[in-house]
Amino acid sequence: MKADPSAQRRLLDLAAVDGELARAEHRRRTLPEQAAVEEAERRVRAAADAVVVAQTSLSDLDRDVAKLDREVEQVRTRETRDRQLLDNGSVTAKQAADLTHELGSLERRRAVLEDEQLEVMERQEAAGIDLRHETEAHDAARTALEDAVERRDGVLGDIGTTEARRGEERTALLAELPADLVELYDRLRAKSGVGAGELTGNRCGACRLEMDRSELRDIQGAAPDEVVRCENCGAIVVR
Ligand SMILES: [Zn+2]
Repeated sequence: MKADPSAQRRLLDLAAVDGELARAEHRRRTLPEQAAVEEAERRVRAAADAVVVAQTSLSDLDRDVAKLDREVEQVRTRETRDRQLLDNGSVTAKQAADLTHELGSLERRRAVLEDEQLEVMERQEAAGIDLRHETEAHDAARTALEDAVERRDGVLGDIGTTEARRGEERTALLAELPADLVELYDRLRAKSGVGAGELTGNRCGACRLEMDRSELRDIQGAAPDEVVRCENCGAIVVR
């Protein structure tokens, strides 16, 4: 293939732009800010799970407290009724003895229930504090996630700006380069990552390897408009 030497030199500008685009793409894929967002998302999920666990504990205890309240209330109602029966004197001596006995049992039962009530209410209070802490931790995790997303989006925005600018430069370069030369360049670039490199001393600018004397002689001896390639990497060598 033949191409004007100045067009061949412009290929180096195209290779530089493509190098920057490849670096931007690589950066986008390996962004530490993206890893930080994923870690922050994981923390938000864990914190949300902890809130659900704390809510469940608290509502179980709320239910236990309500159940004990009802049981204590039932015992009190029964005690009141027994006392009224005793007080109004319409019962036999045997019934009065039974009622007195029952009142003793009811009092012991109520004492047990009230102890239990105290213990459950203490746990309920602790569970309420737990829930508040877990909710605060969840809020903090969400704020941290928002910050992480903002940082990542900022970096992605910068990368996007670089890509847009280099993309425009690429379009402008393509417009002034011969189509067959660009086609060859793109094909080589797809294969090895770099489509063209400058010959510096005896070194290929694409793969950075030194050429042996006979290859160098062939390249230097070729007509200036001859498109020559590196034997090692296949890239177009611009002299
Ligand atoms: Zn090479």
